[in-house]
This record gives sequence, C-alpha cells and structure tokens, in this order.
Amino acid sequence: MSGPALEGQRVVVLGLGRSGRAAARLAADRGARVVGVDSSATVDPIDGVRMELGACAPQTFAEADLVVVSPGVPPSNPGIQAAERAGVRVVGELGFARWFLPQRCIAITGTNGKSTVTTFVGDLLRRAGWNPFVGGNLGDALSLAPGRGHDALVVEVSSYQLERPAGFRPDVGMILNLTPDHLARHGTMERYAATKASLFTSMNAADLGILPRGDHRLTAAAAGHPGRRAWLGGEPGVLRVGSSVRVQLDGRDYMFDLAELEVAGDHNRANAASALLAALAFGADPDALQAAIPHLRGLPHRMEVVRRGDVLWINDSKATNVEATAAALAGLERSAVALLGGQAKGPGFDALAPLLDRHRAVVTFGSSGPSIARELRDAGVAVTGCSTMEEAVQVARRIALQGDAVLLSPGCASFDAFTDFEDRGRVFADLARKEVR
Ligand code: ADP
Repeated sequence: MSGPALEGQRVVVLGLGRSGRAAARLAADRGARVVGVDSSATVDPIDGVRMELGACAPQTFAEADLVVVSPGVPPSNPGIQAAERAGVRVVGELGFARWFLPQRCIAITGTNGKSTVTTFVGDLLRRAGWNPFVGGNLGDALSLAPGRGHDALVVEVSSYQLERPAGFRPDVGMILNLTPDHLARHGTMERYAATKASLFTSMNAADLGILPRGDHRLTAAAAGHPGRRAWLGGEPGVLRVGSSVRVQLDGRDYMFDLAELEVAGDHNRANAASALLAALAFGADPDALQAAIPHLRGLPHRMEVVRRGDVLWINDSKATNVEATAAALAGLERSAVALLGGQAKGPGFDALAPLLDRHRAVVTFGSSGPSIARELRDAGVAVTGCSTMEEAVQVARRIALQGDAVLLSPGCASFDAFTDFEDRGRVFADLARKEVR
C-alpha cells in the first residue's frame, strides 16, 4: 500500500458513520494510534481504535497529530475548532484516503445525477478494460479502497465531502449541475457553488475540470482553480442532440449513439453523455465505450420500472427536490399520473406546471401534500389531494389509462412517513405490484 506511514502518530477521526469508521480502520492499519470520536454514545467499537463517545474533551483534538473529519460533521464543530486553534492538521475523509491511493481518479459531484453518472462511468471503464473502485458518497467509502488492487478510482463526491477537500485531487473532476438544495447547510447559492468548485482546488495544470456550459455561478467559482476545462454542452466537451452525442477533446471529435441505452428518461441520456466525456478524458477506447452503452443500467429508485403492463409503474423515489422531479417529468416519453409529496424542502412546485401540461394527472400526498396542491392549483393545474402514499397509489390506479405511466417522483424528502427514500421506493414498488381485480 502506498502513502505515508502513520506509525505512532495520534490520529483523531471525528464522526463514526460509514466513512469515518473506514478512515479509522485505515489509519489504524497504517500504524497510527487512533481515537474515534462521535457525539452519539451508542456507536459500535472499531478494532484497534480507542473510542471517545458522547461529550469529548477539546484536549483530544489539540494534542492530535492529525484530525480526519467525516462528511456529516459541520465545520463549526468545536473539536475541529480546537484542532485548528492548536495548529493541528485537519483533513476530510476523501483527502485522507487519497494519500494511500496513487491510482488515477475521476470524481463526480453536482446536485442531481451523481450516483447515476458515477455508476455509468464505472461500468464504462470496466468494459474498456479497467478494474475500477466505484464508490465514495455512493456505496463503499473511499477509505476502503487502499489495498484492494483497483487500477482506477471513480468517486461520487457530495458537497459535504468538499467542505474540506485538502489533498483530494481527481485527474478528471466533473460538476454535473447546480440547483438549490442543501442551502440550510451552505447558506447561499454562491457558497454552494464555491463548495462544489473546490473539487478542482488540488488539481494540477494538466488535470481536467468539467462544468455545465452557461452556469455562471459555477464558472465564476471555478475560475481561480487550476486545471484545463471542458464543458457539458460546449466545446471542448460534450454536445448531445437526442441520442446523438459528439465529444470534442484535445482537438479530436468522437461520435456516439445512445439509441440502445436501456435506462429511461432524457436526463439519463444526458447522464450517459457526461459519463462518456469523463471516460474518454480518462483515456478509454471510443469503440469499447460505444459497445458498452447497451449494457449500462440505472440504479434502484431512480426512474426504475417496477411494473410493466398496460400501465408502466416507475419508482423515482430518489427525486427529493423539484429539479429532479422536473427532469423526470420532462424526460418521460409517456403521459404520466405523477405522485408528488412528502416533506418539501421549500416552495417552487409551481415551476412544474408547464411540464405537467402533457401529463395525465397529479396526485399529492404526505405532510407537504396540501401546500404542493395549493401551489399547483394557483398555477392552474388540477390536483387530487390524498393523505398517504397508499391512498395516492389507489387513486393513480383508477386514473391511469392504457399506455400511461404512474410515476413516483415526489420532489420531497421522505422523512415525514418513511425511514429514507429507499424505504419509500420499496413501499411504492410493493403497492405497484399488488394485483387488483
Ligand atoms: P444524486 O446521487 O446526485 O442524488 P442520482 O443519480 O441518485 O443523483 O439521481 C437523483 C435524482 O435526480 C433521481 O430522481 C433522478 O431521476 C434525478 N436525476 C438524475 N440525473 C439528473 C440530471 N442530470 N438532472 C436532473 N435530475 C437528474
């Protein structure tokens, strides 16, 4: 395993969720004396790691040689501040893991589509002959990658993971899009853009930073950072019309055809085009990439077809903001009964009105159902209001005509009635699959 030895160093890992635990184990494997800190008193023990749970002494941080911070922990955490006051180095989990990973790396961030594009890029590279690690914010934490024999890294990066990007250098970094989400944590759109753009902070001059053309906030935020640029929707970069994709890179043109892509929704054609650009920039063979397109698969709970028949039932429970729902409604070829609701992150559902025009009906549910219904009715859209998703599914079943879709793309968080978006998606899929006489 490459990277610095940590023999005898005092490493504090703050936040012991999935990535914190992996980082603590990695530090211990490298010979560090590791202290795991978490405000919860009920965290499971980690082999070779001393735990400080519940209230934690500032001293622990001030006396450390290094503090590794999990993405769940905000920068205002007193432990981080104690470390910084004492001049102790503080790194994020991604930056820490990267010290031990010499492989070349593609990193993907953005408000929507990260997991899908990360998965697509991983599958493209696999079919082009690599054995990539695919994870980060999705699946396995990056700290689990060292020592596993991968020859490339494909990393999904959340904006929380970018709050402390120190040392995390992707060779190809891509920001897919930026729309209002997580503003409670980031404050303003400018701050959110600056956090996303910090994906490029540690790049070398030869590395490639990819941005959506025409996003002025992101372009401005990235302007001071090193690296070359390519564009989603520009040149150099990727341009797409329907299923036809043209990538222009290093003065050369490459054409791809997405007609055989089996994943539903126009936004997934956009996601596949973005993935092709990243894979080409990484050095993948264009013929291998074209041959891989029919094999790309979507992820559960993202435009996932859960029942076929006279009516197509689609689970897009991962759509937890209005923009994701807009992408689903705009990209779906069929007329849909749209199920909207849950715990809304704010107003703005009226923006869906023009997209709903060509769809069959709207049914709202959940704690924000009434306010969403009000907004849409004010915008001239007819809405059927229900209290639970189960009721909404019953209504949708009655309204949907042959050839329609029933689309759960709720545009809201799920926490009003479910554990998470996956739980909500599973409940929907079970309801969809119930035979009805
Ligand atoms: P993330 O990992 O960024 O949350 P996912 O790939 O899990 O992204 O998709 C999240 C939601 O966003 C899904 O509902 C999906 O249909 C929608 N979505 C996916 N790609 C895009 C895109 N390029 N633009 C807008 N919405 C998208």
